Amino acid sequence: MNIAKVIVDVPASAIDQTFDYLVPEKFKDIASVGMRVIVPFGPRKVMGFIVGERESSMISKLKPLHDILDLQPVLTKELLTLGKWLAEQTISLQITTFQAMLPQVLKATYKKELVRMAESPLSDELETFFAGRDVVAYEEFMASSIPYLRLSEAVQDGDVAIEYIVKSRITKKYQTMIKPKKELHELEEVHLDLAKNAKKQKQMLSFFIQYPEPIEKQRLLRQLKTTDHTIHALKKKGCLESYQIEVYRDPYQDREFPATEALPLTNQQAAAIKPMKEKVKNGEHDVFLLHGITGSGKTEIYLQVIQDVIAKGKEAIMLVPEISLTPQMVKRFKGRFGSNVAVMHSALSAGEKYDEWRRIYRKEVQVVVGARSAIFAPFENIGVIIIDEEHESTYKQEDHPRYHARDVAIYRGKAHQCPVILGSATPMLESYARARKGVYQLVTLNERTNKKELPPVEIIDMRKELHAGNRTMFSRALKQAIEQCLQKGEQMVLLLNRRGYSTFVMCRECGHVKECPHCDIALTFHKRHHKLKCHYCSYEEPMPVQCPECQSDSIRYFGTGTQRVEEALAQLIPEARVIRMDVDTTRRKGSHEKLLTQFANKQADILLGTQMIAKGLDFENVTLVGVLTADSMLHLPDFRSSEKTFQILTQVSGRAGRHELAGRVIVQAYTPEHYSIELASHYDYTAFYQKEMIMRKNFQYPPYFFLALITITHPNQVKVIQITQQIVNMLAKAVKRETIILGPTPSPIPRIKDRYRYQCMIKYRNEPDLRKYLHKIVDYFAEQIRKDGVFISIDLQPYHLM
Ligand code: ADP
Ligand code: ZN
Ligand code: ZN
Repeated sequence: MNIAKVIVDVPASAIDQTFDYLVPEKFKDIASVGMRVIVPFGPRKVMGFIVGERESSMISKLKPLHDILDLQPVLTKELLTLGKWLAEQTISLQITTFQAMLPQVLKATYKKELVRMAESPLSDELETFFAGRDVVAYEEFMASSIPYLRLSEAVQDGDVAIEYIVKSRITKKYQTMIKPKKELHELEEVHLDLAKNAKKQKQMLSFFIQYPEPIEKQRLLRQLKTTDHTIHALKKKGCLESYQIEVYRDPYQDREFPATEALPLTNQQAAAIKPMKEKVKNGEHDVFLLHGITGSGKTEIYLQVIQDVIAKGKEAIMLVPEISLTPQMVKRFKGRFGSNVAVMHSALSAGEKYDEWRRIYRKEVQVVVGARSAIFAPFENIGVIIIDEEHESTYKQEDHPRYHARDVAIYRGKAHQCPVILGSATPMLESYARARKGVYQLVTLNERTNKKELPPVEIIDMRKELHAGNRTMFSRALKQAIEQCLQKGEQMVLLLNRRGYSTFVMCRECGHVKECPHCDIALTFHKRHHKLKCHYCSYEEPMPVQCPECQSDSIRYFGTGTQRVEEALAQLIPEARVIRMDVDTTRRKGSHEKLLTQFANKQADILLGTQMIAKGLDFENVTLVGVLTADSMLHLPDFRSSEKTFQILTQVSGRAGRHELAGRVIVQAYTPEHYSIELASHYDYTAFYQKEMIMRKNFQYPPYFFLALITITHPNQVKVIQITQQIVNMLAKAVKRETIILGPTPSPIPRIKDRYRYQCMIKYRNEPDLRKYLHKIVDYFAEQIRKDGVFISIDLQPYHLM
């Protein structure tokens, strides 16, 4: 390569373009598209990616590349194209999409070392360079005259490894191995010649004469109860040599995964899997929406489709929500595919993630199971992409680039001509609508594999409890059910349905919730001004002292923590052993898993928690599910709140009675008549879908309208409002008449870290050029973004409206 086209890491959108750099002689042989480089940019040196090459350039005095960070490309051509597309789609910089595809370790420039791996000799140049050392600083190589190609070849052959030093912690893990360097009879001679008092050396030599195989150094030292000195002395005599081998840090290595076989499928499963297998067989793209109730055997279908993909020599990407990446899920994949599986989730350390990524990169595995970012797995021959619990909001990245894993999956599915399977018991409304229209293929499973009915759901009206004088958070029915459950030695799951920061206002007498007259969204209580505000349209009113419906003065703002529930529970039923699971108790690495294991081992009777306990868990002994306040999420300022309520109630109900023991669900609510609660209690997804679609149509929300949210932040409030207004005006001129532009409105969280936040919401049906307008807006403000610290964030198809 003579001239490299480079995307540089400079955070301003006006420079989302490539820059040409001269490739110095020493890099000519190895420079390729997809490698990370360091280039001079103005007075600085910045990181970048080579995205193309040129034979010649118009510019006469090109600056040379400073350094190449990789000896092999870290991004494939497909991923580079994907990154470009994704940057356009999400209005982000290409550099951010490229970085989003890589593990943390490869996102920055770390100091490097060269580690000698092989026992076999290296090329003469490298042999001289290493000069008997195992580890050498990369800088030393850069200063040497050895061609990079030599090093690149040695790395390719596995003779030398490049190690990144992350915060002085080694990213790869090595073991030092010791082995004899001489023939047996020579060792025996040395043994004889050794001085009498050199006992330790004699002992070590005898050991190698008996077992002339390589052995891990620490083991050797332990076994012979000696120190490095002995090895050193024998190395000096030319009897022993040492070398490094790489060991992967496998976070699951010390666990057993009993092997499992494919189960004979039920008739429903067989019918569902047939068209998927067909697509895999023919290497054709299609998108399936697998709508199957909890326990209907969706995971078994995924496993068997992947089986086919592996048999064809292709690769599979399996996405699950972060919180479902429990040992239970991992066990099912490792049990079926053994070491052919890489697992990627956020609880891994940077080094562990990098190891898993490399196993994929080197094609040492054919399956990756992971959270959102695993969608960028550097496979080159993908046979299927599966997204389980496709309705989960964790598939949307809330940071630049604001991509949705589903869109990336479909893009890659087309590129690789392979099927994409979206699975859920409660598909996202948008997905189900697409399936009904025939854009996706709808496949339905409506029976559990064990032929058991879904557990019956009782709804308890908490207003009646209050009238009966019960002021605790537990209804009489739930209290009784908990006691019965304890008596039988069975276990239960208690869900406190709460998320977000907002508090809404509700009347404890009649369940009335204050909503915005224009938006059908609960108003949010702002403590500081003692006002109720709408987050969508800026409507506001004073906090009422009386309920406008029933005139009672029991109108309160709501918000309960798991800790308070735990305390109340301890008072009510002191003998119950409780495990509390929420953000506070699971902050430490591995604690989530530990708590679940304790519960599985029956060290507690009650698992009490937030959303994170609603999904994916499968405990034999759980027979009761209780939901404390089903409506607390219903009134968040979010047009998806009914959908989310329906989803979580359905999910958590599915935790009860999955095996032999029959299950039971008790749902407490202040507005039990709300359709999302009522329909969830019958597991009636279709009726919910129909009802909710009417609401969405009336209030002009997805899937009838697309949304785009622009948030502007700056420390100066006046400036923020001005810019937001300017953006609103610019858009108003460009878009179609029927497109709705709302704003400027303060964001639901109007100030974060001393920066004011305003937003503008676009609701549109068809704006093919919207992305172009948005790009233009960002370009227009480029100067203020760069110099003035103005921040403009654009979120297409937003999930969080904060
Ligand atoms: P889902 O993912 O839809 O919730 P799972 O795949 O977890 O359902 O299946 C629920 C239970 O049924 C699991 O314990 C699983 O092992 C079992 N199962 C799945 N398919 C079959 C089958 N064909 N025959 C017997 N048991 C099955
Ligand atoms: Zn009231
Ligand atoms: Zn409103």
